[in-house]
Amino acid sequence: MKIAILSRNRNLYSTRRLIEAAREQGHEVRVIDVLRCYMNIVSNNPTIHYRGETLEKFDAVIPRIGASVTFYGSAVLRQFEIMGVYPLNESVAITRSRDKLRSMQLLSRKGLGLPVTGFANKPDDVKDLIKLVGGAPLVIKLLEGTQGIGVVLAETQKAAESVIEGFMGVKADILIQEYIKEAKGADIRCFVIDGKVVAAMKRQAAPGEFRSNLHRGGSAELIRITPEERSTAVRAARTMGLNVAGVDLLRSNHGPVIMEVNSSPGLQGIEAATGKDVAGMIIKFIGDNARPGKTRTRGKG
Ligand code: ADP
Repeated sequence: MKIAILSRNRNLYSTRRLIEAAREQGHEVRVIDVLRCYMNIVSNNPTIHYRGETLEKFDAVIPRIGASVTFYGSAVLRQFEIMGVYPLNESVAITRSRDKLRSMQLLSRKGLGLPVTGFANKPDDVKDLIKLVGGAPLVIKLLEGTQGIGVVLAETQKAAESVIEGFMGVKADILIQEYIKEAKGADIRCFVIDGKVVAAMKRQAAPGEFRSNLHRGGSAELIRITPEERSTAVRAARTMGLNVAGVDLLRSNHGPVIMEVNSSPGLQGIEAATGKDVAGMIIKFIGDNARPGKTRTRGKG
């Protein structure tokens, strides 16, 4: 099979591992920088051009599209889909999962556990907004943030009011969330492939920190998850329409709550913590499922 990996950097751990696994399983693989692709939008025989050449026909495409290039990256992926190339995750599912508000609304519609979350554009009454999520302490998040940047714990009502007013003053989009104190700075990353949790790790925040991101000094270890956590992660991935997803959960005293569903989950942390060949499992899924034109939407979203 010929597989394209959409990645801006072939030296990233996840990209390297996917190349390695694809070759091990006898596939041809090529890394393509999504921002260098250009396309013609035509009704007959659409193509993708890259550094002066017309890209050959691939059987499957693995999108590893960073948050900052979601808009153009998903357009390129959509073009692959229109051309009948099988995507590991579909463009529609990726854009859906990148929109935090939309994701939370979809997950809540399915009755999945979520931290009580509020969002607003220009509330006249910040106090009432805070009351809506149960009051301080609460977590305030910039919608544009990644890797824990722009995630603030406001421990008192006054701090919450000033942070919310401050963010709104600079027109930043935010959401406000119940603080899950009982998670004690830990979260659980469930790696889902094809409706199964194939690996799970617990990330623990550094002392004095509530954010468990590895980029913020958190540490990761193998964890055994409960059946309820397993089914929550699987249902979250299915709700977003993702074949492969990293579902982040917090252990709250009202059961597992979903923080985020990631459509390009990194492989380094999870492979190191669990010792599992997650890249190999992703490539195997592609080998078993990629057929021309076999997408749910064929780029229609
Ligand atoms: P990012 O997408 O930037 O990583 P997250 O929303 O995942 O931001 O938050 C970063 C970290 O902060 C999480 O991994 C978790 O450890 C902690 N965290 C986020 N939201 C909450 C919450 N509502 N209650 C407790 N801890 C939280």
